[in-house]
Formats: sequence, C-alpha cells, structure tokens
Amino acid sequence: MRKPITDLIHHPYVPPATFAAPQPGVHKASTVFFADVAAMRARDWKTKAGYTYGLHGTPTTFTLEERLAALEGGTATLLVPSGLAAISLVAFALLKSGDEVLIPDNAYGPSKALASGELANFGITHRLYDAMNPADLAAKLSERTRLVWLEAAGSVTMEFPDLPALVRLCRNRGVVAALDNTWGAGLAFSPFDLGNGLGVDISVHALTKYPSGGGDVLMGSVVTRDDRLHNALKLTHMRMGFGVGANDAELLLRSLPSIELRYAAHDRNARILARWFEGREEIAQVLHPALPGSPGHANWQRLCAGDVPGGDGLAAGLFSVVFDERYSADQVDCFCDSLQLFRLGYSWGGPISLVVPYDIGLMRDASVARWPHRGTLVRFSVGLEAVGDLQADLEQALAAL
Ligand SMILES: *Cc1c(COP(=O)(O)O)cnc(C)c1O
Repeated sequence: MRKPITDLIHHPYVPPATFAAPQPGVHKASTVFFADVAAMRARDWKTKAGYTYGLHGTPTTFTLEERLAALEGGTATLLVPSGLAAISLVAFALLKSGDEVLIPDNAYGPSKALASGELANFGITHRLYDAMNPADLAAKLSERTRLVWLEAAGSVTMEFPDLPALVRLCRNRGVVAALDNTWGAGLAFSPFDLGNGLGVDISVHALTKYPSGGGDVLMGSVVTRDDRLHNALKLTHMRMGFGVGANDAELLLRSLPSIELRYAAHDRNARILARWFEGREEIAQVLHPALPGSPGHANWQRLCAGDVPGGDGLAAGLFSVVFDERYSADQVDCFCDSLQLFRLGYSWGGPISLVVPYDIGLMRDASVARWPHRGTLVRFSVGLEAVGDLQADLEQALAAL
C-alpha cells in the first residue's frame, strides 16, 4: 500500500492541452524528465527542440526570449539575472587574456567597474573613449580590440552619440559592436537596423527598467541576429549558470504588452518637465536628447525622430539638469531631500518618479573629454504620475534651495 504522500507527489497531473488564455502558462523546473535513457542522451541542450534542465530554459523563458527578440528586431535572446549580468556575459563570452574592450566614458558606471575589476584580473584591458567623437573611437581601435560597447543616450549625462558612425567604424575593423539598449528599449530606434545596412551585433537590455515597469524585477537580456555569435554567448551562458526564475519571467511576460504605452507616457511627462526646467534660472543646462540644446540632439533626431525637424520621435523618461554653480552640492542635496513625489532611488522605468544627485567630476575621466559644467547634476526618472503634480513638487523643492 503506497503512503498518501507518495500519491500526492505522483499525482497524475497533465497540463491542460485545450486551455487558452491571454497569459502564457508559467512552467517552473530545475529538473526536466526524460522518457528513457536514450532520450536523455539524445537531447541537445543547445537547441530549443526540447528541454534538458531548468537552467537551459523552460517553455516560459523560451516564450519571453522570443518576445524580446521580436521587440528588438533580433533573432535569438539569452536571459540573465540582471542587466549588469548581461553586460558581463558578453565580456566573458567574447574576451580573453590579451584582448582589449573599448567603453564610452559616459557609460553605465558598473560596466566600467567590471572592466577595471574582473576583466583586468583576467588580463583583459579596457580603454574609455569619447562617445561624442567618432574620431576618438577610430584612434583607439587597435589589433587587440575585440569588443566595443555603445550606449545611447549615455547614462546620467544623456549625450546621444552618432551610433551609425560608431557602428561603421567597428564594422570596418571587424570588431563586435555591443549596445546597451536599456534607454531605447527597442522602441526609440531599431538597434539592428540603424539605416544604410548598419546595425549593432549585440543588444543588451536591462529588463529591470521599462520591460518590467514595476521597479520589482531584476533581469537582463542579450539579443543577437547572428547564430554564430548567439551560440558563443550561449556556451558561456550555460557554463556560468546564468538562469532566471519562472516567476520573474512571468512578471515580464505580463508587463511587456504595455511597454510601448508606458514608454510613451514616461517620455511625454519627462519632456514636459525638461522643457519647464529650461525656463528656470536655477538651472545651467537641461540634458535631454530630444531638446535642441542638448548634446547629440541632431543624432537623436536622425535616429529616433525620422530626421523630421520638430518630429516627436521617442526618448524614454529620463533627463538630467545641471544646477547653476552658485548652488553648493549641499544645497542641491537639500533640493533632492525636499522632493515629495520624486523618491530617492536608483534604477528607472517604474511608475514612481525617482531622483539622484551625481558628482560627474568623480565619474568621468578628464583625459577622455572635458566635462564642461561646474554645478551639480541631478538625474530624474519620470514616472507615470500626473505631470502637473510632479511640476508642483519640483517647484516647491526649488524654493528650498
Ligand atoms: C540599470 C542599467 C543596467 C543594469 O541593470 P540591472 O538589472 O540593474 O543590473 C545596465 N545598463 C543601463 C544603461 C542601466 O540603466
């Protein structure tokens, strides 16, 4: 006689074949069963023809991978536990001792920290280049360069580079061009189709931001349009054990269908507030690629607004302001502390507006390009609140300066 616990564990559950609903099912597994030893031996984890182990994918993660490839215009996706893990996966898959990677000086900070930490320990060197000066990238590409990172717009300082020009330089030298596409999110422009037959080789995306949209999930993706490159990344992905959980994948599958609406709403609110800041005498400069006075605006216009003068295009929900240098860093901290609706916190892409003050002088390498401002920079991630309420919050906090 079997004990009830055995019958409970061996309950004859069969997934309902005819059940159809808007959301795909959530399949959780570390172990995946095989019918017999021959099937076990025959199964190849590298193909999506079957399942071998939870770490190598489930129906839930395969569905999310396909949808992300569709969003970004690629053919294959790998999922990893964070946006930063996506950046490190690319490095570990493509670089070996003696190689060099080039990183824009205005890149996402932890990407530079990875290069000066683990990559340096492994004998991989890196150099920073001025993303706003393609000639600087051209001069720094060498025999040892195996990978060039791109980012549009630059983290925190929001400069929009001439992406097609940078990609063309990489293409001419046969060097892999990898874009951190978190800002563009597959919506502001097409990373694999930048015009004139140019496209990046790899698009990395912090799904933590707009794809999640909730400020509650960490995940990253690496999308490619080249089987050879995808397979190289996949081998490293498997050997390093970069799996993601089914519940997190489920949250992303739930949020993705509304990404375009949310992105446009964040964008609309951010532009209203950025333009309003332009009229404030406390502010030396507003940094938002869709505003004509912002660095790289013409590049944004060409890539994201169809080169239509005054064309709206798309531009995410981020912008930064540089305070006039007459305000001390302490006064600017006080401004941030006085905000009620804008909360102090890292990351972006969720419904709640966020604010962070930065000391750019500490973050940038003076030998690459001069940071032209002396005042303190504050970066805003604009959420989905009513924009009038956000503006009133900014106004009362400016009064606290
Ligand atoms: C947030 C972010 C990342 C890292 O994503 P995490 O999921 O937080 O690790 C990478 N690049 C950019 C541009 C980001 O904004």
